[in-house]
Amino acid sequence: MLDKANAIAPEIIRLRREIHTYPELAFQEVRTARLVAETLREIGGIDIRTGVGKTGVVGQIGTGDGPTIGIRADMDALPIAEATGQPFASQTPGNMHACGHDAHTAILLGVAHLLKHEFAAGGLRGNVRFLFQPAEEAQDDEGLSGAPRMIDDGALDGVDHVIALHVDSTLPVGQMTLRDGASSAAVDSFRGWITGSGGHGAYPHLGTDPLWMLLPVMQALHGIVTRRVDPMKPAVVSLGVVRGGTVSNVIPAEVYLEGTLRSFDPDVREQLMTEVERSFAVARAFGGDYRLEIERGYPAGHNDTTVTNWMAGVITDLVGAEAIDRTRAGMGAEDFAYMTRKAPGAMFMLGAAIDDGISRGHHTPIFDIDERAFALGAAVLAETARRYLAGELQR
Ligand SMILES: [Zn+2]
Ligand SMILES: [Zn+2]
Repeated sequence: MLDKANAIAPEIIRLRREIHTYPELAFQEVRTARLVAETLREIGGIDIRTGVGKTGVVGQIGTGDGPTIGIRADMDALPIAEATGQPFASQTPGNMHACGHDAHTAILLGVAHLLKHEFAAGGLRGNVRFLFQPAEEAQDDEGLSGAPRMIDDGALDGVDHVIALHVDSTLPVGQMTLRDGASSAAVDSFRGWITGSGGHGAYPHLGTDPLWMLLPVMQALHGIVTRRVDPMKPAVVSLGVVRGGTVSNVIPAEVYLEGTLRSFDPDVREQLMTEVERSFAVARAFGGDYRLEIERGYPAGHNDTTVTNWMAGVITDLVGAEAIDRTRAGMGAEDFAYMTRKAPGAMFMLGAAIDDGISRGHHTPIFDIDERAFALGAAVLAETARRYLAGELQR
């Protein structure tokens, strides 16, 4: 399968560059979805549904009977101005594929090509559902991102297992991470206001000063993880915005804060929200008050052990067991978590770091990946699906 994937690697790279040049933000992936549908049509033998979960595309190939495996790729870009200097860099000012979703989409089109030929060769029973998902990076007005929108539109109905990959710009090419259990963090965000009366800078004793309360509130917030959460359970509380005041001699009436909460354990997730509330309530001890809005985001991702074992077996046979790190995890969030709630599944991280010593983090203007990783990613997904449909995997 790796040889077959290497043979179509130039086509995967061509598609990736085409998508990279025209990045589209969440739920605006119109051009990308059109390219996906056209490419699936060219491959042939694939039932295609467009407009799934607003701008998603679902393709299905198979014998109609037997089990169905879903393979997911996200398609959206980010509101970041690209600074890679690549000849195929973004032509849309302010937008950029800075997370590698262009690669995911192109790789899955490559997988569709490979599996078309496997079906033609015979011996497979069952179906593959290609899930080209919009909006992994952002939620719509109703708080839903692409994965739950696709699920609402029935994209996972009848899917027995679901798999996916995500490129990792910090992991060397040829390396992959594949974890059992928690694979991505739950993410929630909060917006809070510390409020007081404000007043004249020369007469602080006549009013209540939210800037004075900011320090104890921040101290309480930053103490949540070290003093309140079980040290054996990962959690993050990060502030991203602190805003207050306009001029030197006016005490403002409010200070605004925004932050993000990350966790794996569902109980820790609830605890973080309670503790944030308690931290803001510290303002009351100083004569002030607060308002707090917590917005729930993606749940934690869960990799099913059976499915990770299938993929680990495939990777071991393709490139050797040394290529897999089964321990590494981060506190990043992924809305693929909604899909693995619907059907047991797993996502692995595909090493795609450019080997020149420069750090090109995800969601940065210089984010970039080594395209030599693509064939391996396509081979792992396609071979897992092939073995699944050939009845070679223990379910
Ligand atoms: Zn991202
Ligand atoms: Zn991503």
